Order: sequence, then structure tokens, then C-alpha cells
Amino acid sequence: MNVTVWGCRGSITSPGRDTLRYGGETTCLEIVTDGGDRIVIDAGSGLRRLGQHILKDPDVADITLLLTHAHWDHLVGFPFFRPAFFSKYTITLCGGSDPRISVLKSLRHQMEPPYFPVDMSVMKAKFVTGCTCGCSECGNELAVGSGSHRCESIPLSHPNGGYGFKLTDNRGRAFVLLTDNELRYRHETGLDREGYVEFCRDARLLFHDACYTEEKYERTRTWGHSTYKDAIDLAIDAGVERLGLFHHNPDRGDDEIDGILGWCRSYISGRGSGLDCFACAEGMTLAV
Ligand SMILES: [Zn+2]
Ligand SMILES: [Zn+2]
Repeated sequence: MNVTVWGCRGSITSPGRDTLRYGGETTCLEIVTDGGDRIVIDAGSGLRRLGQHILKDPDVADITLLLTHAHWDHLVGFPFFRPAFFSKYTITLCGGSDPRISVLKSLRHQMEPPYFPVDMSVMKAKFVTGCTCGCSECGNELAVGSGSHRCESIPLSHPNGGYGFKLTDNRGRAFVLLTDNELRYRHETGLDREGYVEFCRDARLLFHDACYTEEKYERTRTWGHSTYKDAIDLAIDAGVERLGLFHHNPDRGDDEIDGILGWCRSYISGRGSGLDCFACAEGMTLAV
């Protein structure tokens, strides 16, 4: 499968001259499986440009949209996702924040007056809910598209809940996304750190929340995010091959991210690990 980053910024869009290289769009990933299935994770502001991209491919009619949770930075692109306006498309929804709240309800709610000029009834795509990956919509796991990939979910340690996702192909190669996940504090719906280590075990590629520095975390403990050191320790302990730092802090410019990456690489070699660590950037595509 190929994973393309359409948005990797957290909390709020952050356009500007100092975020050009890593990007300012909030979270949105596109996964194209070896069988050509199209899976989108999160509907942050990056979803707008992904929608334009999908419209150009006449062969795409089925899209699976997984939502990690319903905080605004992960939903704000949905009203601007153009495929949702055309009856040609079938969009299978999965995820959300709370098992008691339908993912469709969260999407509809942000388009209700007075928050948005048109409501969701203008969207003519066929929306399918009731998937099977263990999230708010379903029970255990989802066979994606043609069934060549499995999707599993795990509850996030984050205020108001949410889900991390693991996509595994039929040769056992896995991509894991854990964003908005606080590894040093167990929120109501979350797991112990060990639960996340097991979920990530031997993954080829992991994107993990790396929102805070150690100094900032002292003031933001319980806000639902991790430091880049936490993300590295998790990846090493789980035997992950490649780690992408994700959910960049909106106040963090490109040069600061470069500096953090330098620190991360020396920390990794200090731990005696061969982990490949990089910072996610808009537009990058990674093969898993
Ligand atoms: Zn977020
Ligand atoms: Zn969040």
C-alpha cells in the first residue's frame, strides 16, 4: 500500500512562510492499497485538496473514510470534500469519537445552522455506516474494499475518546496511525502504554502524535498529546521500522521541526536502535 500525507498539522491550520516545507493543513491521509482500494483517514483541512485529486481519477467510486475522532482539526475539511457532493461515489464511514455517537452524526452536526451555509442534504454521495472495525460504528475489524487489507482499531488515550487504526495487507505489512494519543497519561477511554506497544508491534510504518516538546508537556499534561520522545520510545519498544512524527504543533516552523528531527536521530542512535525517523510532510508518499 501507499500512504500519502495531505495534512499532518495538529490543532489548527497553520499556513505561512515558515510552514511551507512540512505544510499547514490539518490531518488527512490517503492510503491506496495494492488492489487499488482508496482509504482516507481523517477529514482535516487536507481533505479539501485530496477531494480534488480523487475527482480527477475516473476509476474511483468507492471511498472508505476513517475518522480518528471528532475534534475540529480532524473534521473541518469534510464540508469541502467534493466527492461527497456526487452520487457517483459511495463513502463508507468508520470511526468517530465516542461509541455512543454515530460518525455520521458528528459530520452532519458541523454542517448544521448556524455553523455552515448548507446542510449535509446537499451531499449526494451514498454514505454507508455500520462497518466492523471495533470503532463507534462497528464491532471488531473491517475488511477494506476488495478484502485485501484488514483494518483494526484501538481506543486513543485522548479527551473525548477516538481511535487509532492499523491497516495490514495480506503479507502482514502494517501501517499504524496513532494521532491525538497521550502515551504518558491514561484518559478515560484509553489504554496503558503497553497496549499501544502491542498494537504497533513490528509495523513497517507508524505515524504518531509528536505535538509537544518536553518543556511544553509539563504545562499541557492531560491535554491528549505526546512528545516526540514518547513517540520514539514507543516505536523502538514495538520494533517499528519507520516512524513519522505527526500532528505537528501549529506554532512549530519548518526550521524548528528540522532541529527536532536532529535531536530525535541522535536520541535513537543513543538508544542503539536502527529506527528510521522522519517528520511527516504534506505531499509525501510512502510505500509500506
Ligand atoms: Zn488533533
Ligand atoms: Zn484531538
